[in-house]
Amino acid sequence: MEELPIEHELGHDSSLTESISSVSTPDTDIKDPYLVFHHGQELNGHSKAVLGDPHPVGTCFSDNHEIHVPPSGTRRLWDEIHHTAQWGAIPDSTGMARLTLSDEDREVRNYFVHEAEQLGCRVDIDQMGNIFAVLPGENNNVPPIGIGSHLDTQPAGGRYDGILGVLSALEVLKSIKSSGIRTYAPIAAIDWTNEEGARFAPGCNGSAVWAGHTPLQAAYALRDTNPSSSCTLRQELERIGYLGAVPASCEANKLSAHFELHIEQRRILQDTGKKIGVVTNIQGIRWYRVCINGRRAHAGGAPMHQRADAVVAAAKVILFLDARARVVEAVATVGVVELERPSSNTVPGKVIFTIDLRHPSEAVLDDFEARLRSCTDGLTKENVGIGVEISKTWHSPAVKMDDEAMACTKRAAEKVVGAENSVEMISLAGHDSALTATKVPTSMVFVPSKDGISHAPEEFTSEEDCGNGLRVILEAVLGYDSIIKQRYTSQ
Ligand SMILES: [Zn+2]
Repeated sequence: MEELPIEHELGHDSSLTESISSVSTPDTDIKDPYLVFHHGQELNGHSKAVLGDPHPVGTCFSDNHEIHVPPSGTRRLWDEIHHTAQWGAIPDSTGMARLTLSDEDREVRNYFVHEAEQLGCRVDIDQMGNIFAVLPGENNNVPPIGIGSHLDTQPAGGRYDGILGVLSALEVLKSIKSSGIRTYAPIAAIDWTNEEGARFAPGCNGSAVWAGHTPLQAAYALRDTNPSSSCTLRQELERIGYLGAVPASCEANKLSAHFELHIEQRRILQDTGKKIGVVTNIQGIRWYRVCINGRRAHAGGAPMHQRADAVVAAAKVILFLDARARVVEAVATVGVVELERPSSNTVPGKVIFTIDLRHPSEAVLDDFEARLRSCTDGLTKENVGIGVEISKTWHSPAVKMDDEAMACTKRAAEKVVGAENSVEMISLAGHDSALTATKVPTSMVFVPSKDGISHAPEEFTSEEDCGNGLRVILEAVLGYDSIIKQRYTSQ
């Protein structure tokens, strides 16, 4: 009997931690890799700077003390969240079905653009339909500080995922405008196209094209995942009137930084009683499509030793993924398995399956991928009738948030809710900020998700928590603006 090509590594693999790059810092021996540390205490023996550190990187105190969210601002944000939910509302629930580039997406985009224009913003729409609503600053030669997220939802999503981030960006602009004071840099509220990837997979490709990770034409050619529709992403951009002329490029359409407010989508904040999560890292996501070719044969006539069974080979790969993920504390999911012309009395000849692989370290993911390929190489050697093709269909990089931008966010969290109510954490889900972080200083803020529920109609974040997030984002952006001002005016 042949051995499964699974390497049983139970000990600590020093080769992994040694090669972790500066892009991705979490140590692989942290017991819960997703909760880095609580304020003011060590977790798993890892001592890190705490919120309220008297010496943050850079000086991110805002000198715009007059700019603040007015008392009406939180209520206005709350009302806007529920007002804009009319576009894509699932009847008799708080659920949302606002697939990207649908008629409903067009309506909410139109609202966003209208509100921004009322504020005196310049509204740029790029080739991917990403919307940049830019409120001028004192020095408009400086690239805007971006505050972005997404207005699209899952087919049965909620009212907060992404939406909170874009609408609070708009509310930040309103707060700045109503103060009558200009920031030094312009500030841009951004709606990134197709974060969810539910209609055109994979997601985050508005920001991925902007960041240069996905070629524009590849994104344009994506087809609707609904089998009854054959339209492409480009056709839908054009149809809803959001195929813009501004280059979808971080080189041609620069940002100084990117900040994002998002719901947590887990329940660490709820369970620890904290109010604000300051994101330190976003874990990397890689998608693969694996095609295993075997040989169809009669279930009665083909002896076991002569078979090239594609399902058996697929099963070995899936078991390898499960075992390896446990060793390195990654998560690996095979969510789609398709057999070609399945029959209960035929040895399967072809299987196609997907892999979703995630970990906070690119080095760990690189190593995992290399081991996956040696696993499949082993399968083809032990049975020459088996052929394996692996293609990587998506890569959202594991990223570390920028120290200076994150220092501004920590300061802001300390000011708004107190250091004792803030916690640093790693984001498990992918976000547009994972893409922007590869090009510009990026920082993310989480607010609590009730019971950790997201991508479901029951998603809920309270008015108070939305307001806290809004205030933190405003303060963080003002802090970063003061850094930019120092930088430019001292030149
Ligand atoms: Zn989201």
